[in-house]
Amino acid sequence: MNAFRYAQAHDAASALATMASDPGAAYIAGGTNVVDLMKDDVVRPTLLVDITRLPMRGIDTLPDGGVRLGALATMSEVADHAAVAARFPAVAQSLLLSASPQLRNMATIGGNVMQRTRCAYFRDVSQACNKRVPGSGCAAISGVNRQHAVVGGSKQCICTHPSDLAVALLSADAIVHVRGRSGDRAIPIDRFHVLPGTTPQRETVLERGDLITAVELPATASARTSFYLKVRDRASYEFALVSVAASLDVRAGTVRAARLALGGVAPIPWRSHDGERALVGKPANAGTFAAAAQAATRGMRGYGQNDFKIALAQRAIVRALSQVGAPS
Ligand code: SF4
Repeated sequence: MNAFRYAQAHDAASALATMASDPGAAYIAGGTNVVDLMKDDVVRPTLLVDITRLPMRGIDTLPDGGVRLGALATMSEVADHAAVAARFPAVAQSLLLSASPQLRNMATIGGNVMQRTRCAYFRDVSQACNKRVPGSGCAAISGVNRQHAVVGGSKQCICTHPSDLAVALLSADAIVHVRGRSGDRAIPIDRFHVLPGTTPQRETVLERGDLITAVELPATASARTSFYLKVRDRASYEFALVSVAASLDVRAGTVRAARLALGGVAPIPWRSHDGERALVGKPANAGTFAAAAQAATRGMRGYGQNDFKIALAQRAIVRALSQVGAPS
């Protein structure tokens, strides 16, 4: 591991100022992602700015039925919170299906949405990877790509985003609160991550030094009726081959509102507007759910080893929608 300096921030202002003092600085909170990457020599921060003492760990219920998650709340704390489990079941489920109990006790909500891809070529510094070294190529496109994207990729990068939580946040219309050098911003989660295009090294809309302070879960008609389904190679401590977060507001047998998001299929947590359009105004039945699965996967394309993900996504979508929208 490279030598690096360490500084502890005591408030947001000092965190931002310390970050600005060194172009090679990086934030550290739970450390479950950045320390791994440092050990593998994938990232080489010259200064780690520890933000764990910032007062951003609370989980607060909001008067309108929403919940505000401090960015430093751990995955375990959020998953176990009664209001999150009752009002946003897909969010709690996504966390409990992530990582291991030990990691969930350390990893934070802010870090979770910022985590880097698990593409093996990204983590192997002997391989070509445009995300790690822009312009070096992408070893995955003609390599072992069973885990890779079937939608949203580019000629530069076909990785998948590893976060389960971020997929569930899409189904909850979550808002990411950020503090930067020019002030505070609120970013809807579906505008937070960016597709690789020709700049796969850029993964979010954050500017250098921006600090995530909270993730807000607003009260919506469909949030309470939500479900997170994760399909993976083994039953625990594994990333998704395909995952689905679905939330439906069904009244008198008709879908009034829908959110449909997929994980494991794209370089970003993938919201399917086409799938949602195929649901709203339609009867909540098996035919509608099958049509939504077709709409959500239209245009997906595999790279050989990952072709199976398209049919897998269709079946997972139908199963998740049936869970939240089955006629009672
Ligand atoms: Fe790198 Fe993306 Fe290609 Fe993986 S898919 S090797 S992360 S450029």
